[in-house]
Amino acid sequence: MTALGVLVCPVCDRQMAAALVEEVEIDFCDPCGIWLDAGELGMLVSDAVVNPRASRGDTVSPGRFCPRCDRPLRLSTSRGTPVDVCGEGHGVWFDRGELERVFAALKVEKGGAA
Ligand SMILES: [Zn+2]
Ligand SMILES: [Zn+2]
Repeated sequence: MTALGVLVCPVCDRQMAAALVEEVEIDFCDPCGIWLDAGELGMLVSDAVVNPRASRGDTVSPGRFCPRCDRPLRLSTSRGTPVDVCGEGHGVWFDRGELERVFAALKVEKGGAA
C-alpha cells in the first residue's frame, strides 16, 4: 500500500524505497534497515514472531520515529533480536541484519523446514 505516500527512514530521515518480498511490499532504507507495517509483517511471518505493539515497559528508542505517525519508536525484542516498534502499533523497524536474524531464529524453531 503506497497510498499514503513515501515513508521516511526512522534512522537517517531519507525517503525509503519499496521492495517486494514474498509478494508483500515493504519499505527499506539501503544503509539502515527495513520498515514493516503491522499488516505487512503479518503477511510475511506469523504474528507470533513479532509483537507489533510495544509494551509499557519498553524504553524509547532515541532519535527514531515512526514513519507513519512520527511518534518515538520503542525498543522491543523479537526472538532475542532488538527491534524498534511503534507504540501505536503501526509497524516494526529492523536495523540492517536484524530481520535476517529473526528469520534465521524462526527457521531453527521450525526445524529448518522452508
Ligand atoms: Zn536510513
Ligand atoms: Zn506509528
